[in-house]
Amino acid sequence: MSINISAPESHQDQIRALAAAAEQARGIDLEGEKKEKLVKSIKALLKSQNAVLVAHYYVDSELQDLAEESGGFVGDSLEMARFGLNSEADTVIVAGVRFMGETAKILSPEKRILMVETDAECSLDLACPIDQFNEFCDQYPDREVVVYANTSAAVKARADWVVTSSIALDLVKHLSDQDKKILWAPDKFLGAYVQKMTGVDMVMWEGSCIVHEDFKAVALKELMKAKPDAKVLVHPESPGPVIELADVVGSTTQIINAARDLDANTFIVATERGIFHKMAQAAPNKKFIPAPTAGEGATCESCAECPWMKMNDLQRLENVLNTGTNEILVDEKVRKKAARSITRMVEFNAKATD
Ligand code: SF4
Repeated sequence: MSINISAPESHQDQIRALAAAAEQARGIDLEGEKKEKLVKSIKALLKSQNAVLVAHYYVDSELQDLAEESGGFVGDSLEMARFGLNSEADTVIVAGVRFMGETAKILSPEKRILMVETDAECSLDLACPIDQFNEFCDQYPDREVVVYANTSAAVKARADWVVTSSIALDLVKHLSDQDKKILWAPDKFLGAYVQKMTGVDMVMWEGSCIVHEDFKAVALKELMKAKPDAKVLVHPESPGPVIELADVVGSTTQIINAARDLDANTFIVATERGIFHKMAQAAPNKKFIPAPTAGEGATCESCAECPWMKMNDLQRLENVLNTGTNEILVDEKVRKKAARSITRMVEFNAKATD
């Protein structure tokens, strides 16, 4: 069974308008002396405030480097939240998008969580407002509610399980082995991929990532013909026909590991371009080519760059450290429920990898 529920057209237009506004507010790349001065000032502020910077793979390389140089961390959303939890810092500064700041707060309620930019959204999170999601869930009381990490704290609180792209297949298969039926939200492409691989009975919300949905299978096939020795690495938020062409389908961390471990020198990569920085560090002698977002019918609105991730920059980071603004707060009742859904996933993952 597969029923798709999509956000109304006007809502999708709103999401596109917010993405366009984010593009206009893109962070500024600094060079030379100005940049060095700013980096020095940020490092001193982090130290004096016992604060730590955690950055997602998709933010600009200068923020990723700064996070690591200053004792912080670069990773996927769950790894970022876990690092914040285990860190001795009083303040965690999140360079990423809003749901990542919320996830950090859910797991570390006693810490001060600041975002470099609170207007940095995610189209998957925006596509799944809690009121509509509650109505959807109420229609299917007999289903296990499984939501992707790219959702608000309120949606996580309504869920039975939160999953990341690295664990979605295993967890849904585990639930299916117990004869559970699934309600999945919000990514329709990841949901369709999980359903195809597991054959599980799922009803689905129909959100999408505005970056990954732009990858084009026809143009990718052409590129593969021109680069016959290249391996193709695809994030499962991409459309089904693109996923079908992949040598490896995986989360951001799994894609980086595949680039390092696979016996190939050239890779075509279908995920946000910020990840190329870490891939080049993990496999310095290998070549990485972005998968095409152009092709027949393509608008290339994102060109594989997330406009919200690209709002994060050094100047905004310094401002947040100077002013203490952009704090993330989550209602305690919501936080407790959301923490339960995340903790179940973490415990499942620990058992699965034992
Ligand atoms: S790349 Fe896509 S999934 Fe990731 S934050 Fe941007 S819009 Fe959301």
